[in-house]
Amino acid sequence: MLNKLDSIMVKSVIAIDPDSNIIEATKLMRDNRLTYIVVVRSNLPVGIITEQDIVKMVANGESFEKPVSERMSRPLITASPGTLLKKALNIMRTNHIRRLPIIKNGSLVGLVTETHLLVASRRAMVEIEQKQHKMEKLAMKDKLTGLYNRRYFHSVMKKELYRARRYGALLSLILIDIDCFKKINDTFGHSVGDAVLKKLSKIFKDSARKVDTVFRYGGDEFAINCPISGTRSARIFAERLRKTIEKKQLRYNGTKLAVTISAGICKYTSVYSSMGKIVEGADKALYHAKQNGRNQVCVAEE
Ligand code: GH3
Ligand code: MG
Repeated sequence: MLNKLDSIMVKSVIAIDPDSNIIEATKLMRDNRLTYIVVVRSNLPVGIITEQDIVKMVANGESFEKPVSERMSRPLITASPGTLLKKALNIMRTNHIRRLPIIKNGSLVGLVTETHLLVASRRAMVEIEQKQHKMEKLAMKDKLTGLYNRRYFHSVMKKELYRARRYGALLSLILIDIDCFKKINDTFGHSVGDAVLKKLSKIFKDSARKVDTVFRYGGDEFAINCPISGTRSARIFAERLRKTIEKKQLRYNGTKLAVTISAGICKYTSVYSSMGKIVEGADKALYHAKQNGRNQVCVAEE
């Protein structure tokens, strides 16, 4: 992270000897398009002369033949390459200065201006914001499948339930559980089980509409939140998923894996009006699907 002066300082600093006169200093400023020149005696910075100093001299009618040492600001306030940006900005504000020469082992090694510091601070802030955003996104996702996780499910459902309650909008929840998934793990190993979870997740995600959100609800359980869907369209969608997976030729070392899913659907109504109730409704319907022989879709009683 760029938080120390050595990461942002200008390394080639134009310097002048204290015995040079103001005319030479002014020429150096003009030729190098600078508003300051650091005054250095045998590599050690001893002062600074700025555009403002020159303007004051003009205003006072002072001679430009004077040596720089007579007109420069001193003692010179400096910092080291390891000074933190925040501390450097504080030094500048407390001392009402806009440039900070940087010294290492008694020699001038660089310089930062207030503008450098402000730009760097802004950049650091943007970096922190981006990192935070990335972390927040990661906290919502399931590592294995890349789907949203159960924690995010709760936050999305809360918003959707509010919308359904407030505006009378349609909302259905589909809970899906892989049939006999334990057997796949036991027969082919956990890594094949993982591959099946990933494959199915992709099918769910690719088949869902833009308004629907797919979550990994638990181990082999998935939830699909379907706003603007009643039971009829949610059932058509779940049936489509069930058939796609049943027909899909998932193979491991040439052996076909018989993967099927069961699903339970519950629609938001005055009976299923809270998060607990709608999840319970979908869960009961899923239980019926399992009891009735699996590989099927059931809808909660209204
Ligand atoms: P049912 O048809 O009744 O759902 O039978 P099932 O065998 O699928 O039973 P259940 O849903 O209870 O089992 C889920 C299994 O999923 C148990 C667990 O070992 C496995 N599992 C959970 N998370 C993971 C995972 O991340 N990777 C793998 N490979 N397996 C997982
Ligand atoms: Mg299962």
